[in-house]
Amino acid sequence: MIDEITSLMQEMIRNRCINPPGNEMRSVHTIERFLSSYGVETEVFESAPDRGNLLAVLKGSGERPSLMLGPGHVDVVPVENENEWSMPPFEGKIQDGCIWGRGAIDMLYIVAAQTVVFAHLYSEGFKPKGDLKLLVVSDEEIGGELGANWMVQNHPDKVKVDYLVTEAGGEPIGPKRLSYIYGEKGTAWTRMLFKGEEKHGSAPFKSNNAVVTMAKAIQRINMYQPPRDTTIIKPLLKALGVGWFTRTLMNQPLLLGFMLNQLSKKNQGDASFIHSLSQMTWSPNVCRGGAKTNTIAGTASLDVDVRVLPGQDEDYVREHFRKALGPLVQSIEINSMEPDEGGTFTAGTLSDVSSPLVELMDSVIKELRGPEFTLVPMISPGATDCRFFRSAWNTQAYGFAIHDGSMELATLYSLFHGTDERVPIGTVELTAKGYMELARRFLS
Ligand SMILES: [Zn+2]
Repeated sequence: MIDEITSLMQEMIRNRCINPPGNEMRSVHTIERFLSSYGVETEVFESAPDRGNLLAVLKGSGERPSLMLGPGHVDVVPVENENEWSMPPFEGKIQDGCIWGRGAIDMLYIVAAQTVVFAHLYSEGFKPKGDLKLLVVSDEEIGGELGANWMVQNHPDKVKVDYLVTEAGGEPIGPKRLSYIYGEKGTAWTRMLFKGEEKHGSAPFKSNNAVVTMAKAIQRINMYQPPRDTTIIKPLLKALGVGWFTRTLMNQPLLLGFMLNQLSKKNQGDASFIHSLSQMTWSPNVCRGGAKTNTIAGTASLDVDVRVLPGQDEDYVREHFRKALGPLVQSIEINSMEPDEGGTFTAGTLSDVSSPLVELMDSVIKELRGPEFTLVPMISPGATDCRFFRSAWNTQAYGFAIHDGSMELATLYSLFHGTDERVPIGTVELTAKGYMELARRFLS
């Protein structure tokens, strides 16, 4: 399969489906041509000019739940500076055991692997006991409105599934451990507006200065401790091999703060990671205010990056901002940021941390990487297309792949949307084998 996957990937890298504008139909047709060479029938849905999605279905007998490979997005993010790359970003060159190019790791190798696995299962006459679907989509990098969400809204009967497996996951989390992703945090980006009274800056005594109010608000936001919730970190700490005693302490919301402080002295990265998975986080990141050095600031605004855990809604966010700001809240206007600035509220979503599909993933990594390997349940700090399926049908949606261990985690993470994006051929091979085994066993 590897040669077919590689050439599909190379063609999709050369297709340059940079979003915006996307033009994903180029890669949708690449997939369509490949599948039809195997005799697989596909449906292509145009969601906007030159943009669209592809679905292929291998009908099951109905004895088992349905499984989707995907949604796999074929759009990619832009390349900021081609000169910084060691390889041209849109040629799909093979060098040092890797396939290079924008989109290689996010997520064209997965789309290509899933497509080829689907075609092979079809051509060998596989008779699944549950429907096997392959969904290729556009527009994930800018919110999925013309891609995964468009399909869920416009063709719910066609894309509804019980289980799905898609991008991310399979990354090496410490020795002998690979991640899988079973949920994601949501976003509630918030803009606060502060009003003051413009006056001459030479006489500030008892003035109402919007920038000063904003500074007080930032201080309060920064000091506030939202409630802690250990639901997500419990299975994570266990899988990471944290000792029983430490785990018991960290699993207590009241002790977690103390424990994180201790941990941060030894390992700031882990502490910050566990922190963000155990509470709503606020990061006041952009402030603007005042107009002139000699004028007391009449207006100021503050943008706060708010990330919520699954189950926390907009009312929850407001309630805690009110508590944090105290008496200041009367003089502050609190709004979501505009939709085109990413302000649309997205809820966090979760699938079951353990399920029959997760058990299969565990046996598959043991077979392909070694019996000593274990899976670590993670949730993604950012939004993925999984959220549409979880919200619509409570689909058990997982991010899963199998990395070959040839790359450090930090290097790997830096490649997503980064310079010199590439994927080791070993990872591509393992991931394809893994999907093949998952689909075959889950639907037999
Ligand atoms: Zn992606």
